[in-house]
Amino acid sequence: MAGTLSVLYNDGMEAKKLPILNVPRAELLTWLEPFGSPRMRCRQIERWLLIGRAETFEQMSDLPRRLREELAARFEPLGTRIDRHLTASDQTHKLLLRLPDDHLIECVLIQDADRRTACISTQVGCGMGCVFCASGLNGVVRNLTSGEILEQLLRLRNLLAPDQRLTHIVVMGMGEPLANLDNLLTALEIAGSKDGLDIGARHITISTVGLPAKIRRLAELGKQYHLAVSLHAPNDALRSQIVPTNDKTGLPDILAAADYFFERTGRQVTFEYVLLHDVNDRAAQARELARLLQGRQAHVNLIPFNDVEGLSYRRPSQETLVQFTDVLRRAGISVKVRKRKGSEIDAACGQLRRKVEREQTVATVGAGDENRLGLPLV
Ligand code: SAH
Repeated sequence: MAGTLSVLYNDGMEAKKLPILNVPRAELLTWLEPFGSPRMRCRQIERWLLIGRAETFEQMSDLPRRLREELAARFEPLGTRIDRHLTASDQTHKLLLRLPDDHLIECVLIQDADRRTACISTQVGCGMGCVFCASGLNGVVRNLTSGEILEQLLRLRNLLAPDQRLTHIVVMGMGEPLANLDNLLTALEIAGSKDGLDIGARHITISTVGLPAKIRRLAELGKQYHLAVSLHAPNDALRSQIVPTNDKTGLPDILAAADYFFERTGRQVTFEYVLLHDVNDRAAQARELARLLQGRQAHVNLIPFNDVEGLSYRRPSQETLVQFTDVLRRAGISVKVRKRKGSEIDAACGQLRRKVEREQTVATVGAGDENRLGLPLV
C-alpha cells in the first residue's frame, strides 16, 4: 500500500495472510481491479485504517460486501497481534506486538497533559550493542517493514478516545532507526500526511546512536524532523566502552554530522546522555561534556539509567544528577532531565520483550505450555 513495502520474512508465511500495509501499492491496485475504481478503493481502505481506526475489513462499511469478504480471505488489516498490553498508573501504555513471523516488538504511548507521544521501534532487537541497553543484548534479528513501523502508531492511536489523536512521535524504541532509514521514512511520510495521522515532522524525533553518513542523508531530505544523538560520554575512550560502534566512527565525525544537520535544517540537535553511576556521571565528565559542546546550539537530554535485569549498572544519586546538570547549565548549555514514565511496566525499551521471550522458553521447555505467562494483562 505504501510505495516500496515488501515482506521480509518467509518462514511459515505461506499459510498466513498478507498484512495489507505490507502490500506494494501497485500490486494492491492490480488486485483491486475486478472490484472497480481501484484507486478509490485503495484510498477507502487506507482511510479506514489510518483515520477510521478500523481493525477488521468488516468494519469498512462503505466497501461492497463481496470486496470486504475477498479482502478478509486474502489479507490481514493489521499484521501485528497485541501479545501484551500493560498500563501504568500515569496512563503510560506499553504494547508488546507479535509480528507475523512471531518476533516481538515494543511500543509505548506516553501521555503528558495535551501531549500524546508514541515511542516506536524500527528493528527486532538492535545491532549497536550499547552496554546498558536491553534492546541490543541479543543483537539484531531484522529490520521492521514500513507497514510494521506504521502499525505501531495505529495500534497506539487506537487506544485513545475517539476525540484524541497522537501529537508526537519519538523513534526511541528498539533498534537503530538510521540502520533502517528507508522503511522508517516511508512510514513517517504516511504518519505525517494530512490524509494519514497528520503528525507534522516538527513533532517527530529520530534518535540515533550516531551514524554520520545517515545523519547527513537525513539532513538533506529537506524535512523538519528533530534529531537526537546518543552521546553518553564526553570523549572517545569512554564512549567506545559504552557504545561499541564508536570504535569505528568516533566523536569528531558524529559531531561534524550533527553540525551539518543543524546547518542544513536549522533544527537544534539534542544530545542524549544516559547517566550511569560511577561510569560517566562525574563532575569532571560534565565539565568535559560542556567543553565538547561549547559553541554549539545544542540541547542536552540527561537520562538517568533505567534498570535492566541482568545488568549491574545503576542510576546516579539525586545529588550527582543535580551536580551534573548544574555544571552544564553554568556553562550555558541548555539541559533537561528526562522524566521517568511508566517505570512499573518496564517502559525502558526491550525489557518486556526479553522477559516474555525468556518466559516462553521456560514454558516451552518446562511444560510445553506457552500460555503460562504471569504478566498483568489489561
Ligand atoms: N538506537 C537509538 C535509539 C535508542 S533508544 C539510539 O541509540 O539513540 C533512545 C535512548 O534511550 C538512547 O539514547 C538510548 O541509549 C537510551 N537508553 C537505552 N537503554 C536505556 C536504559 N536502560 N536506561 C536509560 N536510557 C536508555
